[in-house]
Amino acid sequence: AIQITGMNKWYGQFHVLRDINLTVNRGERIVIAGPSGSGKSTMIRCLNALEEHQEGQIIVDGTELTSDLKNIDKIRSEVGMCFQHFNLFPHLTILENCTLAPIWVRKTPKKEAEELAMHFLEKVKIPDQAHKYPGMLSGGQQQRVAIARSLCMKPRIMLFDEPTSALDPEMIKEVLDTMIELAEEGMTMLCVTHEMGFARQVANRVIFMADGQIVEQNEPEEFFNNPKSERTQQFLSQIL
Ligand code: ATP
Ligand code: MG
Repeated sequence: AIQITGMNKWYGQFHVLRDINLTVNRGERIVIAGPSGSGKSTMIRCLNALEEHQEGQIIVDGTELTSDLKNIDKIRSEVGMCFQHFNLFPHLTILENCTLAPIWVRKTPKKEAEELAMHFLEKVKIPDQAHKYPGMLSGGQQQRVAIARSLCMKPRIMLFDEPTSALDPEMIKEVLDTMIELAEEGMTMLCVTHEMGFARQVANRVIFMADGQIVEQNEPEEFFNNPKSERTQQFLSQIL
């Protein structure tokens, strides 16, 4: 579903992503781990053109990510993204947050968009919040709205960038449970997260990044029990 070859990115003089090669097949659940500043967010953001790469190739479901706006639009419509901060529109209700893009981007009729939104709000277990405003919801609830809102665009791939790290501990589980359910339904997922329990339970592959490179990748069992590189061992000894 995603093919990255020889990708390099600079911020000015700073070489932030170095020779990234990565293939993600349909239905894979990938967790990206690594120290702060290693380029995890930058890599994820390159995948839907929130950041531009300077070298190499990114192909998403057969479409190459170039500066061609048509390609960017196509890829963005297939790739959903969920951030640490939920970025809901505060002046719109939960339902309106979820129907906005389907109505204006997908040209879905309003009634149909609302039915779809209610379907996904039920899925993330907050249909009763549909007519409230984001500020009236807990952080965990807001994050689940953000996930539902992405799902309303019927993405084929979901990117998560530390979706639980702004949440209080008791709310982390409800968001992770939502993500686990998505994984079980076969969604292709790339998740930057520090939740190593989630990685063990859900990921089929863990990717470790340091200094803008993919240093090591493996299935979770091997990754956690038998890390190969010293950099990975050092990282794991700090977080486990
Ligand atoms: P964290 O775990 O803290 O979220 P990360 O692995 O997601 O870290 P990135 O946010 O991708 O790291 O940042 C990688 C490097 O690029 C960091 O050194 C950061 O300071 C730098 N960087 C990020 N965004 C920009 C920017 N817009 N301009 C210049 N440098 C940037
Ligand atoms: Mg980050």
